Amino acid sequence: MSKRDYYDVLGVSRQADAAEIKSAYRKAAIKFHPDKNPGDTVAEENFKEAAEAYEILSNPEKKARYDQFGHNANAGGFGGGGGSMNMDDIFSQFGDIFGGGGNPFESFFGGGGRSSGGRRVQKGTNLRIKVKLTLEEIAKGVEKKVKVNKQIVCHTCDGSGAKDKSSFHTCKTCGGAGSVRRVTNTILGQMQTTSTCPTCNGEGVEITAKCTTCKGDGLERGEETISINIPAGVSEGMQLSMSGKGNAAPRGGIAGDLIILIEEVPHESLKRDGLNIIYDLYINFADAALGTSVEVPTIDGKAKIKIDAGTQGGKILRLKGKGIPEVNSYHKGDQLIYVNIWTPKAVSSEERDILEKLKDSANFKPQPGKSEKSFFERIKEYFD
Ligand SMILES: [Zn+2]
Ligand SMILES: [Zn+2]
Repeated sequence: MSKRDYYDVLGVSRQADAAEIKSAYRKAAIKFHPDKNPGDTVAEENFKEAAEAYEILSNPEKKARYDQFGHNANAGGFGGGGGSMNMDDIFSQFGDIFGGGGNPFESFFGGGGRSSGGRRVQKGTNLRIKVKLTLEEIAKGVEKKVKVNKQIVCHTCDGSGAKDKSSFHTCKTCGGAGSVRRVTNTILGQMQTTSTCPTCNGEGVEITAKCTTCKGDGLERGEETISINIPAGVSEGMQLSMSGKGNAAPRGGIAGDLIILIEEVPHESLKRDGLNIIYDLYINFADAALGTSVEVPTIDGKAKIKIDAGTQGGKILRLKGKGIPEVNSYHKGDQLIYVNIWTPKAVSSEERDILEKLKDSANFKPQPGKSEKSFFERIKEYFD
């Protein structure tokens, strides 16, 4: 059977925008809805065809491919291997089409976007913790084992909330589906509506005697040691999230997430500036004039650096790649060493005599030449 053009199926032009496509599909879905056309196989085919057309045309990526290549765009990629979509898929689309906002069609299809049945699954709440990291840990990445106090699955009832096996039943009202169907008379004729089962509140089970440990919610307070892999390069205030590691959910639902807030512990001598590490080095005037070699701290041990004879205060030395890596990247910052010349705050009379002798010597007269970088050049170099 050759397929009809999706635009023809929905009765819209190729220029139709998303709102027109949605509206056309809504009309087709109502017209051909199986609840309105019981036993009518042609209506059912039309219903499926419209759903398939909408599935493609409502997705910008699929629509673009379809516009370019038609039904041959991606053999098997459209409409589930060239066949029709199954009914559950179609009904699950209805959340977008008919759900919410006082839509007049909502009642026809059960509202709340879950017309295809299925139990209500509860989600556990998210849990937030803070993790303090040293600069060294941030630079290398670290695995932290953290003990968290949270809601865990009740060990007595294994999360079911029931006292024992005999007090845990499939809900008789809905047969475990979590939803009930009702036939109502409307101006369009008899319609079936689907709503959350009032007996089990959508959970599909009934508990006649509650677990005494958790009082029926399937949860208890407990500790869990969670191992958190923190990638290199994180920074203060960043949040990581581990799905399913938060609080457990009532009666076997989906656990919440663990949100990890990063805190940086200040380093005693190194400062972080983005990906770079800053170190303030102080040398005395004699070493600056004569040259020397000094040890400086880095995030992985000490490094020996050479200070050339005639080094001016304010010079910035760079240790390439000794900074912080960017998260999930090979890019790494540098360590920058600011050379400060230490000026004595007090001098002895002997030191004073020597300094007095030196101060009028020709070499001591400041004579910045072209080879000296200006303050602004140094700053600019740093930002490059
Ligand atoms: Zn329990
Ligand atoms: Zn029920």
